[in-house]
Amino acid sequence: GDSRLRMGCSMQPPSKTMNFTDLGLAEPLVRAVHAQGYDTPTPIQAQAIPALIKGNDLLGLAETGSGKTAAFALPLLSMLATNGTPRLPKSARALILAPTRELAIQIGDSMREYGKYLGLKYAMIYGGVGISPQVRTMQTGVDVLVATPGRLLDLMNNRAVKLDTVTHFVLDEADRMLDMGFIHDVRKIVAALPKVRQSL
Ligand code: AMP
Repeated sequence: GDSRLRMGCSMQPPSKTMNFTDLGLAEPLVRAVHAQGYDTPTPIQAQAIPALIKGNDLLGLAETGSGKTAAFALPLLSMLATNGTPRLPKSARALILAPTRELAIQIGDSMREYGKYLGLKYAMIYGGVGISPQVRTMQTGVDVLVATPGRLLDLMNNRAVKLDTVTHFVLDEADRMLDMGFIHDVRKIVAALPKVRQSL
């Protein structure tokens, strides 16, 4: 597959013998990916994970099936597990925006699985279902919030979600998000994020 990264730093070609521990992931994550049956990082994982753990912003381009989700999910979980920023009411420490409900659920399920030894809290927010359970889930705050743009804005407008403590922001399938006409929603959401953050 054709996987490319653009980053603000020079890149070392990944070594063939690279494993998940070498990439700098916290041990409970290495255990969880091994339990998933992953032995070797894919190229986008080998390139993205060390750069993200260092705190770089990143624009990643890779096909479906390249392991793109784990390439951002694993370093994000590792950083959340090792840095001590608190979980506050109605807030999230990491925000992942996805264009569709199906993708949001898939990302949330993957992150829960990878994070099963970490004790972090997750929420998935998307349209087409009742809003009340989502409001309740957000009351005590979460570590990881996976959301589609429209429903997230509804919750922000209802003062059920605040984004002022987000330290990590992911725009997944940014190209599809723009194709689907989410640019205005995305701009409003980005405007509510802290200026100092990691963006992917
Ligand atoms: P994605 O490109 O994120 O949709 O991932 C494609 C599939 O590859 C998913 O089913 C993952 O569970 C799987 N996967 C991700 N990373 C690895 C890996 N390092 N080794 C084996 N399978 C993986």
